[in-house]
Amino acid sequence: MHILVSNDDGYLSPGLAALAQAMQAFGKVTVVAPDRDRSGASNSLTLDAPLTVRKAPSGYYFINGTPTDCVHMAITGLLDEKPALVVSGINNGPNMGDDTIYSGTVAAAMEGFLLGVPAIAFSLQPRSFEGLEPAARIAGSIVERALNHQGLEKPYLLNVNIPGQIDEGNRDPIVTRLGKRHMAEPVIPAQNPRGEAIWWIGPAGAAKDAGPGTDFYAVAQGRVSITPLDIDLTAHRLLNDVEQWLKSPS
Ligand code: MN
Repeated sequence: MHILVSNDDGYLSPGLAALAQAMQAFGKVTVVAPDRDRSGASNSLTLDAPLTVRKAPSGYYFINGTPTDCVHMAITGLLDEKPALVVSGINNGPNMGDDTIYSGTVAAAMEGFLLGVPAIAFSLQPRSFEGLEPAARIAGSIVERALNHQGLEKPYLLNVNIPGQIDEGNRDPIVTRLGKRHMAEPVIPAQNPRGEAIWWIGPAGAAKDAGPGTDFYAVAQGRVSITPLDIDLTAHRLLNDVEQWLKSPS
């Protein structure tokens, strides 16, 4: 059993080390991660520059590319066998609702999924990495259960969010759907040392669709949230509308 580990926080992230360590129990582990923090990189591939692979003293491979580059390169060229599983994380901060669109953590897992490999993304809610050790144990137990359960149709893509404070009375993960956020906060204007105007992308919006059944709700309750994801972006609700529109006189 060969497990590929990646992330979007970069190869030096404590979350990556904790996840890679937790995967040792299941077989051979290869870590291929970006050379720096690429959070928010989504599913981008680097097409305008060559990529290099270097090996850190930790044994981890790091690439001057995106999370998607890392998993793509690992599966299509670097590894001598197709991994049984891709895991990504443990991310510094949650990836719930709309976050999944922008997330490099989810994207790394998604690239495995797109290449036919089951994949799981792990994110830890507190950005302080508080609770990282228990989170890594939870990741290990979820991976063990996923690998041992035959009923899960492959490939699957799971988005796991782990709260900083787990509800001790109910440690079992629950299955959720993605919630939704309010519109993002505005960009933040500032000035660089040369006096030129610059902007920082503002924070994500607060949770909006966050009721029972959503990832936001589960994590707020101290529960580990597992959302199965798919990638078909087709707006099925609009197929008929568009068909009617195209048939209508112009
Ligand atoms: Mn990140």
